[in-house]
Amino acid sequence: MEKIVVVGGGQAALQLVVSLRQMSEGPSITLVCAEQHLPYMRPPLSKGLMKGDTAATDLPFRSEDYFRTENIALVSGTPAKKIDLSEKAVDLASGERLGFDRLVLATGARARKLSCDGVGLSNIFELRTLDDAFAIVDALPDVRNVCVVGGGFIGMEFAAVAAKAGKRVTVLEASDRLMARALSPSMSQWFLDLHRRHGVDVRLGQSVAAFEGAQGKVRAACLADGTSLSTDLVVVGVGVGANQELAEAAGLAVQDGIVVDAHLQASVQDVFAIGDCARFPTPFAPALVRLESVQNAVDQAKYLAGAFAGKPQPYIAVPWFWSEQYEAKLQIAGLLHGYNESRVVGERDGGSFSVEHYADGRLVAVESINDVRTHLAARKRLLSELPSSSAKT
Ligand code: NAP
Repeated sequence: MEKIVVVGGGQAALQLVVSLRQMSEGPSITLVCAEQHLPYMRPPLSKGLMKGDTAATDLPFRSEDYFRTENIALVSGTPAKKIDLSEKAVDLASGERLGFDRLVLATGARARKLSCDGVGLSNIFELRTLDDAFAIVDALPDVRNVCVVGGGFIGMEFAAVAAKAGKRVTVLEASDRLMARALSPSMSQWFLDLHRRHGVDVRLGQSVAAFEGAQGKVRAACLADGTSLSTDLVVVGVGVGANQELAEAAGLAVQDGIVVDAHLQASVQDVFAIGDCARFPTPFAPALVRLESVQNAVDQAKYLAGAFAGKPQPYIAVPWFWSEQYEAKLQIAGLLHGYNESRVVGERDGGSFSVEHYADGRLVAVESINDVRTHLAARKRLLSELPSSSAKT
């Protein structure tokens, strides 16, 4: 019987084992998760769970029963420690050794750390895991002044929730605009205005030099410009780095992510990488990309399950992505690479609009605010307007 080992407990890993089992009762499937929890949905951590709209019990994708019934061996709370390529085996922290015919790394990413003085004080949090989210939910009711370090998606989604909950919120973003990794400058400006209208004090080009505390708890952030900000809760969202050490130690090619080919295979046979940890080729960008999104995790997992079942075409999927902040639902289709023309569809101030971005007349990305119809149409257009040299799935 074929043995498939999947390392990772996030959306990509879970979708892969579900899709593999849907396609065949045949292979032995083992899912190795570092966290103790059942695989759970991450998007609600900075939105619904934080607001109290989503219960923790709604977060697991599947129950323990599902794994038992579907004959998927779930190994939780035990990270993989080493890949032995010559023996085709994975060693776990528990000492267990799992042999494989095919290995899939869906190891995800982890939050980058700040390395300034005082960062170990209590009430300074990351927001990446369920345990991080629980800790913030516990602490939030008792605080007044919230400081968010990093104006990316984690930071701005959390800032919106905290502002709505009546907290005084300050965001410190190192660069000159918000969510710059994924948004166009004009959309960054739109969100800056939105947050400021909700009373959030957004400071661009600003970062933290140190934290000061009292009785072990954070009390102030000392900023890079020499000023001080009073705070009793800090959320740090300064980006993530791929969990690639396992692959790197085994000699697989890595480059801010595990490098894979158009079939999502890593640099040795029978080892694959999907989701946040994978750097892959796509016709939607001129170089290899690593995408941190639910769409990417789900599409790559479904593709790989199909490929294992014998469908050999390359992986091609339109990247798309969403965020929610206050009353704004942001959706982005495509990647903002190399565009030289932008067109607004609808009214920027009307609560529902999109911005289309073109590179030499070809649509490359569409950013939408409360405009689901344009977003869905954009996903279709992006695929149909791909240069004919790219095979379409
Ligand atoms: P992110 O979106 O990459 O944003 C991090 C931001 O922090 C960047 O703007 C970065 O600026 C800034 N920064 C870096 N160092 C800083 C410092 N010392 N002081 C102040 N600002 C600093 O990452 P994230 O917000 O931490 O989110 C983590 C992951 O979760 C990402 O993969 C994100 O896509 C994902 N996520 C997704 C969603 C969604 O899909 N809606 C929601 C939440 C989180 P530079 O770019 O200049 O370094």
